[in-house]
Amino acid sequence: RAKAHARNTVQAYRPELTLAVQQRFELTHALRLANEAAQFRLDYQPQVRLSDGALIGAEALLRWRHPTRGPISPAEFIPLAEDTGLIVPIGRWVLETACAQAARWQGQPGKPQQVAVNVSARQLRQPDFVETVDQILHETGCPPQALELEVTESLLLEDAEGAIELLGRLSSRGVRVAIDDFGTGYSSLSYLKRMPVQTLKIDRSFVSELSSDANVAAIARTVIVLARSLGLDVLAEGVETAEQAAWLRREGCDWAQGWYYGRPAPAEDFSLIVHEAPPQRAGKHLQLA
Ligand code: C2E
Ligand code: MG
Ligand code: MG
Ligand code: MG
Repeated sequence: RAKAHARNTVQAYRPELTLAVQQRFELTHALRLANEAAQFRLDYQPQVRLSDGALIGAEALLRWRHPTRGPISPAEFIPLAEDTGLIVPIGRWVLETACAQAARWQGQPGKPQQVAVNVSARQLRQPDFVETVDQILHETGCPPQALELEVTESLLLEDAEGAIELLGRLSSRGVRVAIDDFGTGYSSLSYLKRMPVQTLKIDRSFVSELSSDANVAAIARTVIVLARSLGLDVLAEGVETAEQAAWLRREGCDWAQGWYYGRPAPAEDFSLIVHEAPPQRAGKHLQLA
């Protein structure tokens, strides 16, 4: 009975499903050709020190211009690239391009001296990932200290012992590791202490609700305290307003990134809106939640 039912379900005409499958198929095909066709590029978004607005680094963000559809958001194509394994060659291209850019920026005033690159779990699980990183650093002349890899909490959770070993090998080379979107996953605090990471990135969803939700502000404050007590740097993502920046600075957050400081832009257009820390005046703090 269940079988018959399943068969009926499969045979049922569902145009919306067919369309979704078809679109996915076409997008995968296009994604497969995209690198050859030079449809990828990287944008860079400034990362600043909150205390004085000094430029510290930049996050490399992948951009894809589809030949007919135009720009497609990474939120749409990265999951597809992960599912199909295409993230491995694409991710390699991202690393090469970002490291080459970081090498060119070294020693140039007003340019980021560190570049952060997002890496997917699937990439990190390649047995030769560390060798690939070594090779790319060598070929591009990018100092290991100028590269930060952004990984997600889910990676650390899936195979904590494996992650500790892998991130340890990267850290021992001087490559920095950041946990991206921190607070949205389920990091085990006991593992966090043992993870060879240098930075926690507070997810944008917390920053955007700082002023409207006291609970969110409490979580953000807790992440900052947690990072500091573990001796980690803490960066807030998605900072859009002076009020958010002031709040984060006051709570002791080290670094920030967001539209307030600069939107992601091509390397050649890289510029930073400098927002110096305002002089602290007693009793005149902006009050958020
Ligand atoms: P993410 O790593 O958390 O990157 C931050 C995202 O927030 C970026 O979106 C950035 O453009 C956006 N953003 C930055 N500041 C602000 C702000 O002030 N307000 C708002 N509303 N948004 C802001 P984007 O570029 O669309 O990338 C989305 C996600 O795609 C990234 O999230 C990352 O997880 C993934 N991704 C991007 N490039 C790569 C890549 O090269 N490799 C991999 N594996 N994933 C990537
Ligand atoms: Mg990121
Ligand atoms: Mg992030
Ligand atoms: Mg994010």
